Amino acid sequence: MSLEHNPWQMAQAQYDRAVRHLDLPPYLVDYLRHPRREFIVNFPVQMDDGRVRLFTGYRVHHSTVRGPTKGGIRYHQNVTLDEVRALAMWMTWKCALVNIPYGGGKGGIVVDPRELSPNELENLTRRFTSELGLLIGPDSDIPAPDMGTTPQTMAWLMDTYSMHRGHAVPAVVTGKPVSVGGSLGRNQATGVGVMFVTRRAMRKLGIPVRGARVVVQGFGNVGSNAALAMHEQGAKVIAVSDVHGGLFNPEGLDVPALVRHVEAEGTVTTWPHGERISNETLLTLECDVLIPAALENQITADNAEAVRARVIAEGANGPTTLEAEEILRARGTFIIPDILCNAGGVTVSYFEWVQGLQFYFWGEAEILARLEQILVAAFEDCWRLAEERGVDMRTAATALAIQRVAEAAELRGVCPQL
Ligand code: GLU
Repeated sequence: MSLEHNPWQMAQAQYDRAVRHLDLPPYLVDYLRHPRREFIVNFPVQMDDGRVRLFTGYRVHHSTVRGPTKGGIRYHQNVTLDEVRALAMWMTWKCALVNIPYGGGKGGIVVDPRELSPNELENLTRRFTSELGLLIGPDSDIPAPDMGTTPQTMAWLMDTYSMHRGHAVPAVVTGKPVSVGGSLGRNQATGVGVMFVTRRAMRKLGIPVRGARVVVQGFGNVGSNAALAMHEQGAKVIAVSDVHGGLFNPEGLDVPALVRHVEAEGTVTTWPHGERISNETLLTLECDVLIPAALENQITADNAEAVRARVIAEGANGPTTLEAEEILRARGTFIIPDILCNAGGVTVSYFEWVQGLQFYFWGEAEILARLEQILVAAFEDCWRLAEERGVDMRTAATALAIQRVAEAAELRGVCPQL
């Protein structure tokens, strides 16, 4: 993996760029640049054919300064410790940016979940949860879904943790199904949040949402819900893609029908009402908004020149490399950075955690209204700082978040102190 494509190097480089705008003591600059603690575990899982396979899992706590660590667990064949480190650091900034009382963490298992049966996935999840028992808890570290994990995964996690405790502990994890203490609105929160933030950005930039051409890379939880939400706002979703390829229809796709098709068929590519295109072509389509909602490193120095979107709304974490960002910025592309753009998921996770701790549940309308309020406030904070300092939105968002974490760290002080 080239340096440019190592997410941890990228996260630290973004940090270095943002921290320059703050006047922090050197020890704090160093402290917040590194993970607080890292957990690596190799563990056996029984497969359906009776064999036992060994898996590697990670959980990284980047910061515990503002509260318990919060962040998802990813199941993907390319998970690495460096990727989990980067994702953990981004969670710290994300939580600080939307001002919820968490630090940042992330976990992952090196596994292609599509190759495991439901039973094997359950065994894998329950064993990993037991291994994580040292770390997780409603007051210490609260996992959630990420790529390759679902509300069902979170239900198994919650059940395993609760079995060890002897009573139900719903607040140990968020993104659970509603029937086991999940929150209304959580499943679509990241995608709907992308829409709230993008809509705000478009208003600022004078781009009408109605009729705007939107391209979405990735049609998982984030991409499909962002596409649906933009469609409901009257935007024209002209192209979408998944791991199998892309689909293009300049007249606009019928997103609700496409979502139903994907539920039945498992891919967007067999939908008959559009032209098959590659993922590479999709990224270079002329459009008003491009929503990368797949993996890291999708917009790179190799394809950035060809990207013709006016706004890039980062539904995924880390989809734009540093070099690509330079190229795009020089051309006037407005990038809504991941830590702001996709913060809707963790924001509703926070609502879910609060509801779980209180055993008192809110209505969906209230949840969505509070979500929009929080995301719009965070957007406005970043916009203001970006204008004041003459910096891009990512630098502003990261600097603002670092400032909040640093302030908490200074107030807490260094323990023990003579
Ligand atoms: N995995 C999501 C993210 O990257 C959600 C994390 C959470 O809800 O804790 O923001």
